[in-house]
Amino acid sequence: MPLYEYECSDCGEGFEVLVLDSDETIKCVSCDSENVGKQFSTFGLGGSDGNLGISEGEDSGGCSQSSCGCCC
Ligand SMILES: [Zn+2]
Repeated sequence: MPLYEYECSDCGEGFEVLVLDSDETIKCVSCDSENVGKQFSTFGLGGSDGNLGISEGEDSGGCSQSSCGCCC
């Protein structure tokens, strides 16, 4: 089914619409404006920061420090 991505020109809200009828009027889900523009359909929405899967300080949390007090 055709899923289109729109962006509101008034408030900037981005949203997806499942268009069942091509004559259907698309309105902004946020402000109800009809002043919306169709965007290119993309996969993987929500992972736009590109930093997924990176562990922060993976090797720094052990018992190498004498002050850790957990097992030394
Ligand atoms: Zn809007």
